Amino acid sequence: MYKSFAVIALATLFLFNGCSKVPITDRKQVHLLSASEMNSLGLTQYQETLKQSKVVNGTPDAQLVNKVGLNISNAAIQLMKQLNQSDRIAGFQWEYHLLESKEVNAWCLPGGKIAVYTGLLPITKDEAGLAVVMGHEVGHALAEHGNERMSQQLLAEMGGMALDVALANEPSQTRSLYGQAYGLGAQYGALLPFSRAQESEADKIGLVLMAVAGYDPNNAVGLWERMKQLSAGNAPPEFMSTHPSDQHRIDDIKSFMPEAMKYYKK
Ligand SMILES: [Zn+2]
Repeated sequence: MYKSFAVIALATLFLFNGCSKVPITDRKQVHLLSASEMNSLGLTQYQETLKQSKVVNGTPDAQLVNKVGLNISNAAIQLMKQLNQSDRIAGFQWEYHLLESKEVNAWCLPGGKIAVYTGLLPITKDEAGLAVVMGHEVGHALAEHGNERMSQQLLAEMGGMALDVALANEPSQTRSLYGQAYGLGAQYGALLPFSRAQESEADKIGLVLMAVAGYDPNNAVGLWERMKQLSAGNAPPEFMSTHPSDQHRIDDIKSFMPEAMKYYKK
């Protein structure tokens, strides 16, 4: 009895709130949280991370992160406009910082809050390599994968309680779901793995973003080849556990290349 009520409640929510299509891939996805809620959680996590990190400023590396961050975020704005999906990033306030850390990592939180760790730079090697990773991370944000993961978690945990009520009454639970989605807690910024499908989507959106920004998307093949070599080592970096780079991923990227190249203007 409760269950059927729950299904109806959920179905209603989906109609009002829930279904949207991922840019570029057009996959249907569930979003139960508001963008403004996600963006404000992202902002809080970003500010806390910056407070606890050594932010690098003024060096050539920091300038490179700024340059690529600006190019990729401008490409995102342009692409969303072109796809008629500007509402997805309406509340974004783009920010990018280089953080001093040996960790091989980079991420983009909801709202366009990007971090790159210095440990990543030897692998990205140059501007185009950095654009591959930043494009990929921004791809996750444009596809709102965090919202999707939290929504799936909500469906599983709250089992169809009226979700708007649940969120209003259980802000701490919402925070904890965000924590589960973004690995808040022990290690800031160490994102929990997205699903394989979400990874593949972020790759594709990232290639298109690179192309729109004027970087040759073919650079992605070399970057993921270098990642693949790293993951074969004894102690593969953290990033590799959330971003497994294997032949399958590289082949997937290669097969999407003709589509990405349509957006590339030299
Ligand atoms: Zn990813």
